[in-house]
Amino acid sequence: METEWPPLSPLQTGLKGRCPQCGQGHMFNGFLTLKPHCEVCGLDYAFADPADGPAFFVICFACVPSVLLGVWLEVQYSVPLWVHLLVTGPFMLATCIPPLRPLKGWLVASQFFYKAEEGKLARLP
Ligand SMILES: [Zn+2]
Repeated sequence: METEWPPLSPLQTGLKGRCPQCGQGHMFNGFLTLKPHCEVCGLDYAFADPADGPAFFVICFACVPSVLLGVWLEVQYSVPLWVHLLVTGPFMLATCIPPLRPLKGWLVASQFFYKAEEGKLARLP
């Protein structure tokens, strides 16, 4: 018997790391590793392939504040290298690592919600 699940917002389920089908089970097994399936509804996560999507978004958007901080420190104060290692480096880690998991969850949930998959050629009979 197959249970009907109401459509859930990929943003709400994905950002929390919840199953995109039932919204109750957990999507992750560790920090970024996906579970093989949902422990509540049994949804197989084999469809999920966000590839480099989370890293792309982090590189494009989350790195900007740390680059601006490093450039500002260098241009304004001409700080030595050790200041960048102690200030800019940890700031970069703090702005880039935490968004990876919610972004991956959101991309996987969106992939499920919009039934996105690899493109296939349609052949005429
Ligand atoms: Zn589930």
